[in-house]
Amino acid sequence: MTEKLIFELSQDGRRGYTLPQAELAEREPEELIPERFLRKGKIGLPQVSESQIARHFCGLAQKNFGVDLGFYPLGSCTMKYNPKINEKLVRLPRFLFLHPYQDVQDAQGILEILYQMEQLLCKVSGMHRVSLQPAAGAHGELTALLMAKAFFEEKKETRDKVLVPDSAHGTNPSSSHLTGFKSIEVKSNESGTIDLDDLKAKVDENAAVMMVTNPNTLGLFEKDILAIAEIIHQAGALLYLDGANLNAFLGRVRPADFGVDLMHFNLHKTFSSPHGGGGPGSGPVGASEKLSAYLPVPMVERSGEGYFLDYTREHSIGKVRSFYGNIDVILKAYCYLRILGEEGLKEVSTNAVLNANYLRERLKKTFEVPYSQERSLHEFVISLKEVKSKTGVTAGDIAKRLLDFGFHPPTMYFPLIVAEALMIEPTETESKETLDEFVAAMEQIYQEAREKPEYVKEAPHNLPIRRLDEVKAARELKVRWQESGD
Ligand SMILES: *Cc1c(COP(=O)(O)O)cnc(C)c1O
Repeated sequence: MTEKLIFELSQDGRRGYTLPQAELAEREPEELIPERFLRKGKIGLPQVSESQIARHFCGLAQKNFGVDLGFYPLGSCTMKYNPKINEKLVRLPRFLFLHPYQDVQDAQGILEILYQMEQLLCKVSGMHRVSLQPAAGAHGELTALLMAKAFFEEKKETRDKVLVPDSAHGTNPSSSHLTGFKSIEVKSNESGTIDLDDLKAKVDENAAVMMVTNPNTLGLFEKDILAIAEIIHQAGALLYLDGANLNAFLGRVRPADFGVDLMHFNLHKTFSSPHGGGGPGSGPVGASEKLSAYLPVPMVERSGEGYFLDYTREHSIGKVRSFYGNIDVILKAYCYLRILGEEGLKEVSTNAVLNANYLRERLKKTFEVPYSQERSLHEFVISLKEVKSKTGVTAGDIAKRLLDFGFHPPTMYFPLIVAEALMIEPTETESKETLDEFVAAMEQIYQEAREKPEYVKEAPHNLPIRRLDEVKAARELKVRWQESGD
């Protein structure tokens, strides 16, 4: 099952290519290349045949796991199927060979698409303007908080607090910290939504922004969102939406209608662009009318002569990314939006919510689902606290055992307000049969946890690599092969 390193396959003198004998090959390199350019040491490349290379890398590729291979219920990440037509479209030569330094006159087509994309995102969200520049959700948060900062500086107000619910993604407090704000935690109530009393106690004249994820990371809609917006605006602060969970209400609810001043989209999540393993992503930022002036430059605008990149916005926070963002991700999301249309988007959120509730109701028979007074939206969280106390088997052990069944594990130990959490997001692109197979696997693992807990604790059993020392892997990161003694 294990694959050797390509360096271990190496045999001195073996070659993966055959080139025709060139005239110059008669002469030694020393005759042709000046001494100072000649390599002194060994090159250190593996010496393998062409077929060895093909088998080595195809073998590795088959050990990888992706959404094209199996169910990937990674909560909060929206690992939905990525339609292949989008890949085809972005690889059309006219997109592929565009250069960012090309004269705008020769790039009118892409500018028109980016202009339309902004309009589509405005339509979906109700926001006034959208910048497509930020490279991911977290980058969108940072951009929006820099805008909020500029907004209050302009008004000569020194507000230094950003309010973040305790169920929020870790990027929210990190972004506030990076922008020089103090991050203040707001507690959740017993229903798993924002505690209004705690919020009121923490909002004052120093509050700049409240960051809200809606539906929140428990998959629950913040049904007091209008009251929250009221409290925040009364205090002169701004309401920010972490838009990672847009899949839950796409085509049904517009964030601007519940009082959002600033927000980010995760195009790679909601609008189906392959992601994971660190990228690529796209995190456009939407702004209400009063905040649009602070959006990054450039913005794509239209005049009588056509589309152009406008760098002249007076209050802009400046550039946050080279050129105009991750265009290929934006293009895939654009195709996805255009192909689905308004009705299609509604179906996305309907089926995402249906799938999550189906799975939740079935798993609830065996597992504890905290905060389940209300139906969830597109995702839900189960707790393995009781399983752990009775059997010693943890959420992490169950995640590892799921690998043996060919499932990617759910998100673990998040949100932090649930002990031994597994956060499950099936997405709209899975069939009932797949969801049933997942339930069967979870029920079997539950049974195993009670009957032979050690077996679960030693999982995975069927994969090339068993348990990794995750702490060591993080602390002593080695991503490059080194010859021993090198
Ligand atoms: C994914 C996610 C983020 C961060 O987005 P990235 O695109 O990964 O930077 C922020 N908040 C929530 C709730 C998320 O799920």
